[in-house]
Amino acid sequence: MWEDVFSNDWVAASQRFRHLCDKLQDSGINVKSERLLIGKKGPVEEDLAIDTCILGNPDCKRLLLSTSGIHGVEGYPGSAIQLHILRDILEEGLPDGIAVLFAHSLNPWGMAWLRRVNENNADLNRNFLPPDEEYSGEPEGYHVVDYLINPTIPPKQREKGFFFKAFRHVLKHGWSKTKQAIAEGQYTRPESMQYGGDELLKGPSLFLEWLTPMLDSAEKVVAIDLHTGLGKFGHDTLLVNQGVKEEKIASMRTRYGKRITSLDADKGVAYRTRGDLHQGLMARWPNLDWTCITQEFGTYKPFKVLNSLRKENSWTHHGDVEEMHTHWSRLDLLKAFNPKDDDWRGMLLTRGRILFEQATEELREGAK
Ligand SMILES: [Zn+2]
Repeated sequence: MWEDVFSNDWVAASQRFRHLCDKLQDSGINVKSERLLIGKKGPVEEDLAIDTCILGNPDCKRLLLSTSGIHGVEGYPGSAIQLHILRDILEEGLPDGIAVLFAHSLNPWGMAWLRRVNENNADLNRNFLPPDEEYSGEPEGYHVVDYLINPTIPPKQREKGFFFKAFRHVLKHGWSKTKQAIAEGQYTRPESMQYGGDELLKGPSLFLEWLTPMLDSAEKVVAIDLHTGLGKFGHDTLLVNQGVKEEKIASMRTRYGKRITSLDADKGVAYRTRGDLHQGLMARWPNLDWTCITQEFGTYKPFKVLNSLRKENSWTHHGDVEEMHTHWSRLDLLKAFNPKDDDWRGMLLTRGRILFEQATEELREGAK
């Protein structure tokens, strides 16, 4: 089910997105579409681009920003949610008083080639460091966990030892330290996992350039970035960056419910990250009234997801495979972040739609 919004490749997803933007324009809505070409090609020689559209008046002071696919393969479910929402807007019209900005597949290379990272092996959600921060350093415990997550001999498809090794590692070093070391982002090992890049990379800088005129004139922005791979199968967690004030989180909980989860490590819930998209936006436009939500949909258990990532990364750098995008390690990775399961898909579309609706309500309150 839902094949009409869950695409099988980046080309189809991108075409569907642009087609809907055209239809919205034909329906009389003010639409400004733009393709941000990243200068790379996909598996069928297609030019890869971040597809964007602005619905409504671009000078509007209140903006809803929906982004998908910063993590390549996660772009398939992210795209489905965006297409589903666009179809609803086509039927119901655009809400008054706001403009809605869509950026489809922020990492088109990763989406097309079935990786989570981009063409530089960078996790783009670790690439948006604030302008005054250097692209250097790694988490305290990264060297300790390195042997576990970055095998230099590509693991077999049916390798059993990893779960035992990972379990033993967690027993010795603790779950929160292990999670922190893996998830934070590192800027020292370009072929290893969770690399954040050595500068602001092409896709992210094109995206920021596109956003600048809108954000320069905006007052209030609700930003939703779509992800998968963390949490209970089909359920969503609404993650809020570290550094967001306690009162703001409390008011977000009132509006969006208990799923609002702070990434502030001091509160013991999750882990700190460096250079994520929303941190990067808030650092560059500190005077805007921001509500930033990372909507994370659960797929499988953390070690299973981690294992897919480590196998795929290791095969990419140490395997001798010509057609990497059809290799089992890439297909397994896609499955880990985009389960082919009708219930999961249905939950995702419904919950994606609900959050969008709630964000619209927040923006419309007090709008002139
Ligand atoms: Zn993600």
